Amino acid sequence: MNLVLMGLPGAGKGTQAERVVANYGIPHISTGDMFRAAMKEGTELGKQAKSFMDKGELVPDEVTIGIVRERLSKADCDNGFLLDGFPRTVPQAEALENILTDLGRKIDYVINIQVDQEILMERLTGRRICKSCGATYHLVFNPPASAGACDRCGGELYQRPDDNEETVQNRLEVNVKQTQPLLDFYQAKGYLKNINGQQHIDQVFSDIDSLLRDLK
Ligand SMILES: [Zn+2]
Repeated sequence: MNLVLMGLPGAGKGTQAERVVANYGIPHISTGDMFRAAMKEGTELGKQAKSFMDKGELVPDEVTIGIVRERLSKADCDNGFLLDGFPRTVPQAEALENILTDLGRKIDYVINIQVDQEILMERLTGRRICKSCGATYHLVFNPPASAGACDRCGGELYQRPDDNEETVQNRLEVNVKQTQPLLDFYQAKGYLKNINGQQHIDQVFSDIDSLLRDLK
């Protein structure tokens, strides 16, 4: 079960990844975790990645791809993996094809959780945080009992600058531009499976589950 998980910010990737891991016992491999592990283990590539990050620079593809290769070669990936956050570009996707060919494997599915941008905007801009105690709310999904005030302490609720419409809109647009070529690449390979992410969380997982059941 060799999977790549895709979806825009707010599409619910994290939740679905947790469920796939819990149900199928394959490791969830996110880019951040992979980097942290390589740095902690002090592998040669981990050291290289750290030197770029310490300088505040982007880790070059060859280092990232090397770390992915090391990670996918580990024993816990023998029955499969769920890659999340890699690949981000077509060259990285091509590199992943090479890695898997070397390992005698191939991607089964690229699961793309689809949610309209308007709905993502609603999900991503609705967060409110209490100035006094830090409790978090969501205007739609977890609203406070009285508007603008914290249920716990009565404190004032505010929106983080990261969550404002303009910032979120920009973040989404950058993501759409980045991921479209990747989706086209995987569509052409026949790996792409679009999942409707606008349903209840349980139904989204049920759709993913019926896709994966065929692979067992
Ligand atoms: Zn509060």
